[in-house]
Amino acid sequence: MIDQQIKSVIRDIPDFPKPGIIFKDITPILKNPQVCDAITDAFIDQLKDIEIDVVAGVESRGFLFGLTLANRLGVPFIPVRKAGKLPYSVKQKAYELEYGTATIELHTDAFEPGQKVLVHDDLLATGGTVTATSELIKEMGGEVAGFCFVVGLSFLEGREKITPISDRVIVLAE
Ligand code: IMP
Repeated sequence: MIDQQIKSVIRDIPDFPKPGIIFKDITPILKNPQVCDAITDAFIDQLKDIEIDVVAGVESRGFLFGLTLANRLGVPFIPVRKAGKLPYSVKQKAYELEYGTATIELHTDAFEPGQKVLVHDDLLATGGTVTATSELIKEMGGEVAGFCFVVGLSFLEGREKITPISDRVIVLAE
């Protein structure tokens, strides 16, 4: 099962990036081509009934499987980046963090109005980042086709936060 494969390779890092946080380190997945292939295959299988025009990957670990997924689906990949990183004209969205705020950006020509955008990130925690991403996509005239993640931290209830935006939420390992 894909969830067991993922859980067997990711590792918990206590007190990173601050005391009290147990960080899920997904980098061991990247050292294992079989698990990478299995993750991509599982996404492709679970996405087969969803219409997708574009895949949006959230900086930075959302770029890893986001691009692979877009290539396998035969659709464009667009990077969702932190403020100040994208070189062309941008639209941005600020959102609340536990302490302070963050801002994400998309290129203004990332997709065409009406296109169906799949939102991908490596990990779903509170859901704040992908909620802001989906709001930005909608403000730019796009539709959210769904969400997909390699790992989900179910105790933070991110799934509950994003299901009202789209009921197509794929989390391979929770
Ligand atoms: P959220 O906005 O609270 O859902 O946080 C998700 C974002 O934070 C994603 O971009 C993740 O890459 C990152 N993140 C939060 N916690 C972890 C973790 O334990 N491991 C890896 N990434 C994390």
